[in-house]
Amino acid sequence: MIRVLDQHTIDKIAAGEVIERPASVVKELVENSIDAEATRITIEIEDGGKSMIRVTDNGKGIDKEDVRKAYLSHATSKLDNADDLVGIMTLGFRGEALSTIAAVSQTEMITKTPESLTGIRYEIHGGKEIEYKEIGAPDGTTIIVRNLFYNTPARLKFLKSNMTEGSYINDLMSHVALANPEIAIKLISNGKTVIDTNGNNKVQETIYALFGKDIAKSVLPVDYSEGDITITGYTGKPFLSKGNRSFEYYYINKRYIKNAVINRAIEEAYKTYVMQHRFPFTVLYLDMPPESCDVNVHPAKREFRYDNEKELFSAVYHSVADALKEKELIPDAEAEHTTA
Ligand code: ADP
Ligand code: MG
Repeated sequence: MIRVLDQHTIDKIAAGEVIERPASVVKELVENSIDAEATRITIEIEDGGKSMIRVTDNGKGIDKEDVRKAYLSHATSKLDNADDLVGIMTLGFRGEALSTIAAVSQTEMITKTPESLTGIRYEIHGGKEIEYKEIGAPDGTTIIVRNLFYNTPARLKFLKSNMTEGSYINDLMSHVALANPEIAIKLISNGKTVIDTNGNNKVQETIYALFGKDIAKSVLPVDYSEGDITITGYTGKPFLSKGNRSFEYYYINKRYIKNAVINRAIEEAYKTYVMQHRFPFTVLYLDMPPESCDVNVHPAKREFRYDNEKELFSAVYHSVADALKEKELIPDAEAEHTTA
């Protein structure tokens, strides 16, 4: 028998694609806060995000009459039609995050626009509206997601330990903080503040807040342009290198993506400074024409391709190599040298 699925079931299935784990909820909610031009975002999690995720922002809020609409699938204020997909610069644009999150959790939203005197408290459990009420609230939006996957036991079972799920959120928020040094980001996990950046748009201070003083004082400024690509940021002195690539942070037009050409270019620039199988610390911001960038739009993926790989390699390589060349690296007693 062929059956047409009801909307609720469709949402639950879609949730499986977009919302894989607590970190995916945090990613979607925080991207919405960034799109709403928040300058301060606070994320609180309990039990690795499994029992509670709260994201509070001071962004532009949601109009009363739009609150319910925001929870419909394919409801978005960021896209009028398919043509807008080309060159869109906001972070999320599929209009499914809120509806899918609400389908698989007990969600509460409090939101107020600066123009309105009162806000709205909206509660929705498993996709079903529980409450819609006018209340006093500060400007901005708070979304609380409780008991993720409470109604999809198969998904719940697939989650890792609280500690592991929490560490995914920590990694994600480190990337968000680095990609957005102009936003004050705070992450509180089981009552303990684990990330706290000041949002003053100084990358070195964000590095300090995330990685500590020793790393923050051992980075070299990067500032380089080649063709259509401009690269700024910092690259670590060679002794900061470690045994895996997790220290190679880079963002394209403020997006956290992965790209093998960029990794290779960074590592090539360090080749004469670090031993084989050691990987440097970098925080690079690549600014390049969006129309030449191909970012896989699937929300769970971060693959990126650029029209001109040769130019991309060359720009990244030279940006890092120049920064390394400019400084005399002698004070680093621990510096590793190879004769590659
Ligand atoms: P999308 O982000 O793809 O548009 P979402 O389901 O994530 O879809 O959000 C739906 C809509 O709800 C957004 O387009 C936006 O208008 C509104 N919205 C969601 N979160 C926020 C927020 N934190 N601040 C202001 N508006 C928000
Ligand atoms: Mg969104």
